[in-house]
Order: sequence, then C-alpha cells, then structure tokens
Amino acid sequence: VKRSKATGKTEAYQTQAFDIAREQFGMETALRRAIERGQMRLTYQPIRDLSTGQLVAFESLARWRDENGVEYSPNDFIPVAEESGLIVPLGRWAIQEAAATLAQWDARCGGHCGVRLAVNLSAIQLQRDTIAPVVEAALSAYGLEGSRFTLELTESALVTDPDRIAGIMHALKRLGTTIAMDDFGTGYSNLAYLQKLPIDILKIDRSFVSGMLADRDKIAIVRAVLSLAQALGMKTTAEGIETNELAQTLAALGCTYGQGYLYARPLEAEAAYAMLVEDRH
Ligand code: C2E
Ligand code: MG
Ligand code: MG
Ligand code: MG
Repeated sequence: VKRSKATGKTEAYQTQAFDIAREQFGMETALRRAIERGQMRLTYQPIRDLSTGQLVAFESLARWRDENGVEYSPNDFIPVAEESGLIVPLGRWAIQEAAATLAQWDARCGGHCGVRLAVNLSAIQLQRDTIAPVVEAALSAYGLEGSRFTLELTESALVTDPDRIAGIMHALKRLGTTIAMDDFGTGYSNLAYLQKLPIDILKIDRSFVSGMLADRDKIAIVRAVLSLAQALGMKTTAEGIETNELAQTLAALGCTYGQGYLYARPLEAEAAYAMLVEDRH
C-alpha cells in the first residue's frame, strides 16, 4: 500500500480497494471456469443424534481445488460467488450434486440409506434464484422424497424481503423438506420470525459451542437457545463439537443433534458412504 504525504489515507484506501477488486476479479474468473468445468465438489460432514449416537444426516459443504492444487475455503469463494452472481449456478449445482450423491448411496444400500443430506442456501441465492422449483426438480430427477433434504438458511436471508423468504420456506416445506436456521444467534436479532416461519431445526453457531465449558456467558446463551427451541417445538443442532465432554454436556442439556470434528471433518463422498455403511452394522 502506497502512502503519499499529500493524499494520505485516501490513496492508501484506494490502492487497497483496487488490489481487492483485482484479486476478486481473478478469483471470479477462476471460479466461473471451475463451475463450468465441473471442478467443484461436495464434502459431507456427519450429524449425529446426541442421545443415541445415531448417524442421522450429513451436511454437504462445497469445496474447490484449482488446477495448481490450491484448495479455497468456502468462506472465501462463497462471498465472491454471491457478489458476482455465480452463486446461482453454483447453488444449483450443489443441490443437484447432493441429490445425485444421495440417490447413489440409496442404490448401493438397496433402499433408503438411512440419512438425510443438508444443503446450504445463501441469502443472495434465495434472492436471485427460484429455489423451490430447483429443489423439486433435483428431487424428482433422482426419485428422492423431499424428506431426504434439509435446507440450511441463515438469518441474513430474512433481512431484505422477509415475506418473500417466508413464501419460499413454505414452498420448500410443501415439498417435504426440513428447514434449519444456520449460524443461529449470530445475525438478525428480531426473534419474532421464529414464531411465523416453518423452522424445524436451530443450528447453534460454533462460536457459542466451542469453549462454552469454560465460559459462563456462552453456556448461558446455549441454554437459552435450547429452551427457546424446546418451547417452540424445534430441534437443535450444535456445531463445532470437538470433544467428548462437549458432546456429553450438550446431550445432557437436551440438544438434539451434534456436528463437529469429534465425529469427523467434512469427508469425501466415498469416505462418507463408508461411515454410513459402518454405522448400519
Ligand atoms: P456452515 O454452514 O455453518 O458450516 C459449518 C462449517 O463449520 C464448515 O466449514 C465446517 O467444516 C466447519 N466445522 C464443522 N465442525 C467443526 C469443528 O468441530 N471445528 C471447526 N473449527 N470447524 C468445524 P466450511 O466447510 O469451511 O464452510 C464454511 C461456510 O461456507 C459454511 O458454514 C457455509 O456457510 C458456507 N458454505 C459451504 N458450502 C456451501 C454451499 O454449498 N453453499 C452455500 N451457500 N454455502 C456454503
Ligand atoms: Mg450450514
Ligand atoms: Mg452452520
Ligand atoms: Mg456456522
């Protein structure tokens, strides 16, 4: 960053903004190519019932490795996809790919393979695409019932046009899918929407879960979310469970499901299938 005495901060900011814009443009071009060439993939992280240990679902998480073997984090490429509009083809691909994977697992199991798949939907994707028909088409293309999908939305989806998002959520429910509120507690703070929207699961953000055993404030927040969910008839998933002690504490507090490195990191499809088969025996 250049700093001239005459222009001071302004020039520094402009140079920085320019660098960021150029870097994002480079990433955008590469991401567009990767989507077109089928270089994106999904990984799958197990979600377990905390009281029985049973494997109930996998969350699908997008991954991108470029030609040079560099792996990009979705925390970096999802925002680029959102700003460029690429979230629409990327999001459609993720829904299709999740359905294809689940149908393949079912076929290999000779019937219902026993798990649901969760797919993340970004707020921008919900604004720009017609999600319910896209989900419906993917389910029917692979002969899957709607109940096999959970769709994860974040509170930020509700900020711009809550009525439209409510309509989308009801349309998704009519397909038989489950709806989870992702990263709960980190976004929009008007809780009135919880009463009005067809939400099945609250996912408690990792920032509250990890370290909660040593932090009275975090544990208070987690307890409050759990009792709120119970009162509203919703299930709960705790993200970011890294230790047995955390899993046990959350189970004792009544949290329904758990997800985190304790069980597994996001797995390649084949490793996820192996876990599924292992669990059925
Ligand atoms: P998310 O939906 O909240 O997903 C959970 C993130 O937490 C994942 O990061 C997962 O790998 C990570 N995680 C799970 N358990 C643990 C743990 O025990 N410890 C730690 N430190 N981390 C854990 P990931 O895969 O990097 O994804 C980051 C975010 O990117 C996701 O957060 C989601 O918002 C977004 N994302 C990923 N894939 C997609 C996608 O296909 N579509 C959309 N729209 N967003 C996606
Ligand atoms: Mg998620
Ligand atoms: Mg989450
Ligand atoms: Mg999160």
